[in-house]
Amino acid sequence: MSSSQRKSPNRKRSAHGDCPTCGNARVVSTVEDVVLTVHGRKHRFENIPHEKCLNCGERIFGIEASHLFDAALHPKKRSRAA
Ligand SMILES: [Zn+2]
Repeated sequence: MSSSQRKSPNRKRSAHGDCPTCGNARVVSTVEDVVLTVHGRKHRFENIPHEKCLNCGERIFGIEASHLFDAALHPKKRSRAA
């Protein structure tokens, strides 16, 4: 008898993935205010959806957060060719 059902070595990764800093899988989605230093200035961004590692506290920002940072830093996007 040959069992065709083999356990795939490819583990399904969680939607959030592991923490890039500590490798812990306890990464949760959250929406919090975030303070970042951009060009030497502190900026406060409100209600930024991102992922946070419960183990080390590392914050992981995705594309959505990047867009929000960008929109906050550049409220009016000017198409200005240098
Ligand atoms: Zn971590």
